[in-house]
Amino acid sequence: MTWSERQRAMLAEMGIRVWDVSPADEPVEAEAPASVSAPAEVSVPAVADARPPRTSTETASDAPSPSALASTMDWPALREAVASCTACSLCESRRQTVFGIGHPQAHWMIVGEAPGEEEDRSGEPFVGRSGQLLDNMLRAIGLSRQAGETPDPAKQVFIANTLKCRPPGNRNPLPDELARCEGFLIRQIQLVQPRIILAMGRFAVQSLLRSTAPIGQLRGRVHRYQGVPLVVTYHPAYLLRNLSEKGRAWDDLCLALDTVEASAGAAQHAPAGG
Ligand code: SF4
Repeated sequence: MTWSERQRAMLAEMGIRVWDVSPADEPVEAEAPASVSAPAEVSVPAVADARPPRTSTETASDAPSPSALASTMDWPALREAVASCTACSLCESRRQTVFGIGHPQAHWMIVGEAPGEEEDRSGEPFVGRSGQLLDNMLRAIGLSRQAGETPDPAKQVFIANTLKCRPPGNRNPLPDELARCEGFLIRQIQLVQPRIILAMGRFAVQSLLRSTAPIGQLRGRVHRYQGVPLVVTYHPAYLLRNLSEKGRAWDDLCLALDTVEASAGAAQHAPAGG
């Protein structure tokens, strides 16, 4: 698929009208952005690679939580630890934990925020309308969360949330809850070893980059999480409420795609070690 075809397919999947724009034309909001071509090089990370430690007020646990003990777990142990976790009060109101879904060695990893009502019911992240939008976006560039559809890890996505249990009434996650749960996500990222991370939404960004800057300030360039390229973008639920931002989400996904392709190309042309 050529770049132009890919661009058109994705914009169509995202519900964005497509027509030809001459280079001199001004971009129009919610149309195909003018700057959709691949960047000449990946932008310099704006956020430090190593995450600074949480402050004392952010660290809530006095005793190690299951999440904090997750660093040596394999997939079955991690899944069991999440399912039985009672480290924060969200365990009292959840129907079930929402572990994550996708190929265990997917090249792409998407990190969302917290389960909503439908996720709490189904046990799967990103379901409902926002999940459909996300799946359409992924499908448009040949990616899937369903391991059976395309077993090639390069075409696979692992999707996880920052919190594994639903906050009551879909309220915002609390710092204490994020702190107690983050070890699970850290271990998931370590096990997947993705080539690219898409951080979707404010709390995913806060957890991974330790930044409280608005999404609008952090998107548009490549950050690093533990050495893994990370692109910040809007949560699909936000896109459903703010249709004009779909064009920017499209830019973000293209940036992530270009980053993966650039690193794959660099790996191909790297001299053999010895
Ligand atoms: Fe445990 Fe995370 Fe659920 Fe809290 S949100 S009970 S830390 S799995």
